[in-house]
Amino acid sequence: MLQINHISKQYQTGDFVQKVLDDVSVNLRDSEFVAILGPSGSGKTTLLNIIGGLDRYDQGDIDINGTSTKLYKDRDWDAYRNHTIGFVFQSYNLIPHQTILSNVELALTISGASKAERKDRARKALEEVGLGDHINKRPNQLSGGQMQRVAIARALVNNPSIVLADEPTGALDSETSVQIMNLLKEVAKDRLVVMVTHNPELAHEYATRIVELHDGRIVSDSDPLILAEGEGLRRARHRRLGKASMSMLTSISLSFNNLRTKKGRTFLTAFAGSIGIIGIALILSVSTGVNTYIADVQRDTMTSYPISIQEQSFDLNKIMGSAQESNQSKEGKTGRKAIYPDDSSITNASTLTSSISSNNLTAFKRYLDNPKSELNQYVGRVGVQYSYDAKFSIYDHDPKGTLVSADGVTIGGQQGSVASQMASMNPSGDPSAMQSMQMSRLTGKTETNTSPKSFSEIMPGKDEDATPISKVITDNYQVVDGHWPKDKDQVVLVLDSNNQIPLTTLYELGLLPASDYNDMMSKINNGQRVKPDTSKMDYDKALKQTLDLVPASDQYVKGADGHYNYVGGDAGQVAKLAQDAIHLNIVGIVRPTEKASATPLPAGVGYTRQLTNHLIDQAQSSQVVKDQQADRQRNVLNGLAFTADDDGAKAAQAKDYVASLPVPQKAAMSKALAAAQQADQQDGAAGAGANASQLPGQAQYRGQGGILAMGDQQAAASMDSYMATASQDQLVSIYEQYVRPQVGSYKDNMTAFGLINRDTPSTIKIYADSFENKNSISEAIDHYNQKAKKADKIVYTDYAGLIMNSVTTIINVISGVLIAFVSVSLVVSSIMIGIITYISVLERTKEIGILRAMGASKHNISQVFDAETGIIGLLSGFLGVGITLLLLIPGNTLIHHLMGTDQVTAVLPVGGAVVLIILSMILTLIGGLIPSKKAAKQDPATALRTE
Ligand code: ADP
Ligand code: MG
Repeated sequence: MLQINHISKQYQTGDFVQKVLDDVSVNLRDSEFVAILGPSGSGKTTLLNIIGGLDRYDQGDIDINGTSTKLYKDRDWDAYRNHTIGFVFQSYNLIPHQTILSNVELALTISGASKAERKDRARKALEEVGLGDHINKRPNQLSGGQMQRVAIARALVNNPSIVLADEPTGALDSETSVQIMNLLKEVAKDRLVVMVTHNPELAHEYATRIVELHDGRIVSDSDPLILAEGEGLRRARHRRLGKASMSMLTSISLSFNNLRTKKGRTFLTAFAGSIGIIGIALILSVSTGVNTYIADVQRDTMTSYPISIQEQSFDLNKIMGSAQESNQSKEGKTGRKAIYPDDSSITNASTLTSSISSNNLTAFKRYLDNPKSELNQYVGRVGVQYSYDAKFSIYDHDPKGTLVSADGVTIGGQQGSVASQMASMNPSGDPSAMQSMQMSRLTGKTETNTSPKSFSEIMPGKDEDATPISKVITDNYQVVDGHWPKDKDQVVLVLDSNNQIPLTTLYELGLLPASDYNDMMSKINNGQRVKPDTSKMDYDKALKQTLDLVPASDQYVKGADGHYNYVGGDAGQVAKLAQDAIHLNIVGIVRPTEKASATPLPAGVGYTRQLTNHLIDQAQSSQVVKDQQADRQRNVLNGLAFTADDDGAKAAQAKDYVASLPVPQKAAMSKALAAAQQADQQDGAAGAGANASQLPGQAQYRGQGGILAMGDQQAAASMDSYMATASQDQLVSIYEQYVRPQVGSYKDNMTAFGLINRDTPSTIKIYADSFENKNSISEAIDHYNQKAKKADKIVYTDYAGLIMNSVTTIINVISGVLIAFVSVSLVVSSIMIGIITYISVLERTKEIGILRAMGASKHNISQVFDAETGIIGLLSGFLGVGITLLLLIPGNTLIHHLMGTDQVTAVLPVGGAVVLIILSMILTLIGGLIPSKKAAKQDPATALRTE
């Protein structure tokens, strides 16, 4: 039984307050057919909606089967509508995008019945209203009467105890109206049917009771139910009416079907939404491509330009800095009115010389060898390379059998001439080689016997025992014949990328006749034009050549006087040495690959780290080194003491030195002294005030006269007698002039003998994989310098930094701009999805009302719209990714064309694609959040009134 007790409802629109229901009280039986009659606007629909729980009363109470609804919560009203009420509307209110079976199923769907049960009961309900054959049709494929029967089937499917029908025949012709009325009469047999109509005939014919409403008041009731005292009215009590909930899956299928009916629009929406995603995906792809490329370039650049620290170094940064400074200082100096000295060339020269420093690589190597050092974490895959200047000479035989030295072609030939020096300039671009060349020019230091320029060590791998040849080498060089060297006596011939090798190198290696070279050189020196032999040569010819390696220490041979002599320039001795030498075989010919990015090996001969190690060991055990180590005070080359601290020692050494000289040299010295004496006397006569006491001789020489005309024996004898009587000052003077330059030093000797201390590399090269790591390494070196003693501070030139720092800045700026674009397009696309969802909410207002009428909760409604936006978002995401992948095909062709290289290839990373799809979903969900909340908040009664 349904008791309506003193219900009032009023609407306020602006200042106008309208009492739509004014103290309405009516009791309805559990099974009767009540028709509510009344003029339009009298409040019939409002009453029905309040009975059905779609609208709320302001005052009064409704008692349902003895339970007051005063304490009902939204949830309870939802369940009440779902389980107890069945609605039938004038305008049918079927959901157009669902089949009629799904429409009928909906009430069951909301209450969470199983799929099979739903189908079964819906089909039965449709059969009962005579539509068993039409279950798969959509509402717009049915007549008005059929649609109203579907609506009745839907109202009945949940087997409600109350059916509320609001002008169910209002839109139907009279014949169909009769059918519907019959149906409702049938329905009313075992339940309460409340029907609003303004057709009194139909009401009187079919209804069992007629209630008339006028201006919100009941004016007549044909069969009122008067309750006895105390009957019915029971205390308000709260009771759960069962569950009314819709699963996520139902929401998705509802939205999916809705979207399916609007394929074109859904696609356009998703496409519009995907534009943002496409933009991001494209940026992501290109930046992935560019980043991969940059990483490659970085790695390659770092391989070509490692941080290279040499024993002797000059700070290129400092020099470049001062050059810039002097450029800037030129400004603002116009209009001066005096004489100003321009000191730039002097200061530049001083910057140049002051920037030369020597590095203590021993201390730095100790730092690097400590695995805990800060720097080590930034070292790249090539690692840290220590190189040692192994000293050796190479001799070989040219096709005519002439003995050739790789240092300068023929022994005793044109060695050292300007022409040959220029001809043998190493064209390799290795900056450290360039630096050491500039170094020797700056300092004026030239080493007597460095290794041949065309010989270079092949960089070993990080662990040199496991990989004797670095991957950098094997990746960038291909073997065109033979194989890579496997041992110390195996070398490769390195060609450049044009398969060329400097002509001089070919002569030096004895692959071309030395006589041709000498002819050529003398022609050049005479100012004649030459036409060098440039005919090609078979690989086999080079592979047959053997090269004899003589370590530096072996080139010092002990003479009869017990002193060691350098015999490297003596053809006879060299021939002998070459026989006992290490015989190197050219076992392979290599050249840079076409795509080589780093070419650390200059054209010439490459030898292994094993050979270097062998030479280090050999130098340590050589006799000359051992002898020198045995007496650290005396130079084994000439027997002179390395140090002479006081004048007494200097005088004694001068005496020893002159005494040890052979006659011709002693005579030459005597004559040189006499000549100097004469010159001095002439100066003195001219009154120049020469400092005669500095020179030996004086009276003795003056008296004897004519030393210059004497024979060797005589001159030598006079020298001996002079030495016997010379004062200490004179002896010191002789020491300074003749002995000092010959003394040398222990260290210089050891270097000349090729002795290498493994703790003291000549160059340390640190390879990083990226600019960031390279910069971190620079910082680590700065930290090292801060802590190090003054003498241990490291100075080096950061070539990669000089070249690439600006590039990385540009790249960072570009990335920043791209990120800004990305964020804008994200915001735009989510706003757009929000707008589209909002439109969808407006469009589906009616559907929201229907769902609510059937018991869907607010939460269910927002769920439906969230599902819709989710689906659109997913679609946008997939569409965006798909379109991006398609766009990348012509895009990459364009990139390759524009950049002139196919090294930059835009690729959409799989992870990025997945993230973008999820992002697209999340963003559309966020965009749709406000509209879906709005949808949920819609008043169902108002929603149903919406056309
Ligand atoms: P009936 O169904 O008898 O034609 P209604 O119950 O639909 O009448 O409406 C009764 C009165 O309430 C009407 O005058 C209508 O203008 C007013 N009304 C209905 N709904 C609203 C609303 N949401 N806001 C303001 N007035 C309303
Ligand atoms: Mg109405």
